[in-house]
Amino acid sequence: MAGDDAIAALRAALQVSPDNLPLVLHLGDTLLSLGRGEEAEREFRQALSRWSENAQLKVGLACAFDQQGKTSHAQVVLEEICGKPDAPARGLVLYARLLLRSGEAEKAVRTYKRGLAADPTAADETLAEQLGVRTAASLPDSEDDDIVDGRERQRIGGEMGPAGEIERPKIAFADVGGMETVKEEIRLKIIYPIQHADLYRSYGKAIGGGILLYGPPGCGKTHLARATAGEIKAGFMNIGINDVLDMWIGQSEKNLHALFDQARRSQPCVMFFDEVDALAASRTDLKQSAGRQAINQFLAELDGVQASNDGLLILAATNAPWHLDSAFRRPGRFDRILFVPPPDASARAEILRVLLKGKPVDNIDHDQVAKKTDGFSGADLKAVIDVAVEGKLKQAMKEGIPRPLTTKDLLTAAAGIKPSTREWFASARNYALYANQGGAYDDVLKYLDKR
Ligand code: ADP
Repeated sequence: MAGDDAIAALRAALQVSPDNLPLVLHLGDTLLSLGRGEEAEREFRQALSRWSENAQLKVGLACAFDQQGKTSHAQVVLEEICGKPDAPARGLVLYARLLLRSGEAEKAVRTYKRGLAADPTAADETLAEQLGVRTAASLPDSEDDDIVDGRERQRIGGEMGPAGEIERPKIAFADVGGMETVKEEIRLKIIYPIQHADLYRSYGKAIGGGILLYGPPGCGKTHLARATAGEIKAGFMNIGINDVLDMWIGQSEKNLHALFDQARRSQPCVMFFDEVDALAASRTDLKQSAGRQAINQFLAELDGVQASNDGLLILAATNAPWHLDSAFRRPGRFDRILFVPPPDASARAEILRVLLKGKPVDNIDHDQVAKKTDGFSGADLKAVIDVAVEGKLKQAMKEGIPRPLTTKDLLTAAAGIKPSTREWFASARNYALYANQGGAYDDVLKYLDKR
């Protein structure tokens, strides 16, 4: 076979010059192109034992895993490489494909765009189409909306910034299990004032200001913010504060203003700021002045100094509210701070129902699993299902017959997973006891008391 000849020639060449990294990469890629993933994996692994930090080799290894259906192996490798700013385009594009496959459409879009920005020739037309991302070649001059994953998105001023996209969420409060108190607060504090602005004004009630959601990670803060937008058919803008800081450090301070302006043009719009603790005054890895400037600009935008914030619903989330500069908590800014606890039993049952949708299941007793997963976050429950599915796949490979997931499978998987929220409460308890600014964290103590 021609392929065999090529491989033999490459191996012979490598015998002569074993230090030739491009040749090793070429051999690996040729094996991949011939569908010989297992051999490619061996080559890449061997080379990595020598050039352990080489990103191209790691991408090759991930491709080899992917070709053999070892998706989670590929994901682990790619997660590491793609977390770095100089990730190779090919790795980013492959990672985007895997993310899309695992249902993380939004992250897939962001990752794919990073890949394109790193190297436009890495474009993958089929994937771009699935993601609803237009490539440079097909970009029209107009600023039409992109349609992504059934959600409408718009770009800020022609830039493909990941933080500038406006979604139209399809979920509403009914899709959020439990959290009745938090939902009610959101209605009172930000939904009604927007819907009945004149009435509020006639009673002399100030409009504006946002809500800061805090609590252990994976417990639905983002989910709830997205549902808030869906509830009132508003746009939704999800902004990672770390992205904003990167913009800052990249000297493009106008971008933060552009984000707010974009939201103002699309009002009503929920602006959701994640990881706001990144703006904490105590952050040492930010150059003091740049960090301070970023904070000031952010506060000025929140205050609506240059433009009115009418029609904007401002939500933010943090796992560590105690690190946040008190300037954020002044009236008109994040003057309401709400605790988002881990899901209770009925919310856990609801989350399980949502997460199991479309999977082969056999009469699952959601309530029983919910009862046995006290302290589990939404993200932990997702891990339970992943582990149970992996077990089923292993069994199916052995027996040759796929079987549906059962309650017992889920219970077994849950028994092996430690709920991640405990750790958060361990540190939250200390802040609530010893740094409870004006009772801000009373809800954490109340929650802990009930247990
Ligand atoms: P956070 O923003 O608090 O870190 P997320 O909102 O990203 O957490 O939650 C992680 C996942 O768990 C979400 O994708 C969501 O599907 C699920 N989830 C968490 N809480 C709930 C809930 N109360 N109802 C439905 N799904 C939830």
